[in-house]
Amino acid sequence: MWFRRDLRLRDNPALLAAVASAREDGDGRVVPLFVVDPALWLPSGPVRLEYLLASLGALDESLSGALLLQHGDPVEVLPEVVRAAGASSVHVSGDFAPYGTSRDAAVAHALDTVPLIATGSPYAVAPGRIRKPDDTAYRVFTPFYRAWLRHGWRAPLGPPPPDVAWWSPLECDGYPAGPGVGTLRLPPAGEQAAWDRWAAFRDSALGRYGEDRNRADLDGTSAMSHHLRFGEVHPRSLLAELGEDDETYRRELCWREFYADVLHHEPASAGRSLDARFDAEMRWSGGALADEALDAWRRGRTGYPFVDAGMRQLRAEGWVHNRVRMVVASFLVKDLHLPWQDGAREFMHWLRDGDLASNAHGWQWTAGCGTDAAPFYRVFNPVLQGLKFDPDGDYVRRYVPELRHLAGKAVHEPWNAPDGFDHGYPERMVDHATERDAALADFEAIRRPS
Ligand SMILES: Cc1cc2nc3c(=O)[nH]c(=O)nc-3n(C[C@H](O)[C@H](O)[C@H](O)COP(=O)(O)OP(=O)(O)OC[C@H]3O[C@@H](n4cnc5c(N)ncnc54)[C@H](O)[C@@H]3O)c2cc1C
Repeated sequence: MWFRRDLRLRDNPALLAAVASAREDGDGRVVPLFVVDPALWLPSGPVRLEYLLASLGALDESLSGALLLQHGDPVEVLPEVVRAAGASSVHVSGDFAPYGTSRDAAVAHALDTVPLIATGSPYAVAPGRIRKPDDTAYRVFTPFYRAWLRHGWRAPLGPPPPDVAWWSPLECDGYPAGPGVGTLRLPPAGEQAAWDRWAAFRDSALGRYGEDRNRADLDGTSAMSHHLRFGEVHPRSLLAELGEDDETYRRELCWREFYADVLHHEPASAGRSLDARFDAEMRWSGGALADEALDAWRRGRTGYPFVDAGMRQLRAEGWVHNRVRMVVASFLVKDLHLPWQDGAREFMHWLRDGDLASNAHGWQWTAGCGTDAAPFYRVFNPVLQGLKFDPDGDYVRRYVPELRHLAGKAVHEPWNAPDGFDHGYPERMVDHATERDAALADFEAIRRPS
C-alpha cells in the first residue's frame, strides 16, 4: 500500500483493496509505504513539510510503527520495494494532478508485470467523471454542483480489519529533517486530530456555518482544509455527516471537487490563466516598484488593515480565512496590478492546506481570469470588506499589533484616528479608488477586439 495524499486508515478504499489482495494472492501481509519524493519534497513550502512529517508520525503510530519510509524517485523505489517484498500488486488512491498522473504512469511502466492498482481518489467524485450532456467538462460551478449532486457518491467505508499483518521488507530510511517553521503555530496532525477537529466544528459551529462562514473574526469555519489536503479524512466521510440543512457546507466541499476537475482537464491552468488574454495582454506593474509592492503585500505592510491582517495570519498560522484570501488576492491583482501567479506562489509557500487546484483556481476566480462568471470588474474594497466581515475589528487587532490601541471598527481606518499611526503602522501604499479605476481601464483595453 503506497500512501500519498491519503494518510489515514479509515474509509481508505485503496487500503482495503491492498488488504483484500494480500489475502487472496499472498500470505496476507501488507507493506505500508510512503516515498519521500524529492520532486515533491523540494518545492514544497516548509509549513506543509512540517505538517506532513507530523501526519506521517501519526500514521506510523496507527500502524504500530510499521510505516516504511523510503527516499527517492518512486520510479526506482517502488520496483525495489516490490522485489524485496515479493509483492503481487501495488495499491494507491488515484492521483489526478499533473505531476501525480505522469508519475503514476511512469511507476506503472517500471513495475512491469506487477500491477499498480488505483482504487478511489481524494474526492467524493473522481475528477473527470462529471461531464456536461455534450461530454465536455464544466467551467461554471453551479451546473457542476447540480450534476455532482445528481451523480452522488458511495457511502464511507469503515477501517481496515483489525488484524492486518503490516510488515516492512526493508530498513526504513527514516524521517527527513524538517525545515522548521519558527514561531508559526501548526495544529495537531493525523487522522484522529482530523476527527477531533470535525467533531468540535460539527457540535459548535456547523449549524451556524451559513451565517458565520464569512466572518473573519469568528471561528466559524471547519478548518478541515489541511486534513483534506493530506487525506487524513475523506470528503465522503464528511459528506456522510451532513444533514439536509447543511447545504452550504456541502457546496463548499464541492468547490474543491470542481477545481480538481478543472485542473484535471486543463493541467496548464496550474500556472496559466484559463483566460489566455490575461497572461498575454494585461498591463502589469514592473521593475523595482513592482518588487517593492509585492514585498509590502507579502509582509502585510500595505497600509490596508484587513489585507495586512490576512497576510500576517498567513505567516503566523499557515492558514487564512477564505474571505480574507479573496480580499488579499483581489488587492494584489487589482490594486497593485501584479499577476496572480506571484500571489499564488506566496500562498503555496506558506499555506498548510496549499493545494495546486484550489489555489490556482481560487486565485484565478478572484483575479477574474478563471472559471465561473466571477467578473473582473468585481473589485473588493479592502476597507468595506473589513468593516463588514470583521465588524468589531477583532481580527485585525489579533494579527496587527501596531493597531491594537484602536478600539472597535476604528481599526479599519487608522487614517481617521489622530493616533492611528503612532505605533509604526504604515500609510496606505496606494489609493484604492484610483487603482480600481486603473485596473478596470486595463481590463477594458484587453477586452476590446483589436
Ligand atoms: C486565493 C485563494 C486561494 C486558495 N487556496 C487554497 C488552497 O491552496 N487549498 C485549499 O484547500 N483551499 C484554498 N482556497 C479555498 C478556501 O479558502 C479554503 O479551502 C478554506 O479557507 C479552508 O478553510 P476551512 O477548512 O475552514 O473551510 P470551510 O469553510 O470550513 O470549508 C470546508 C471545506 O470546503 C473546501 N472549500 C471551501 N471553500 C473552498 C474554495 N473556495 N475552493 C476550494 N475548496 C474550498 C475546503 O476543502 C474546506 O476545508 C483558496 C481560496 C482563495 C480565494
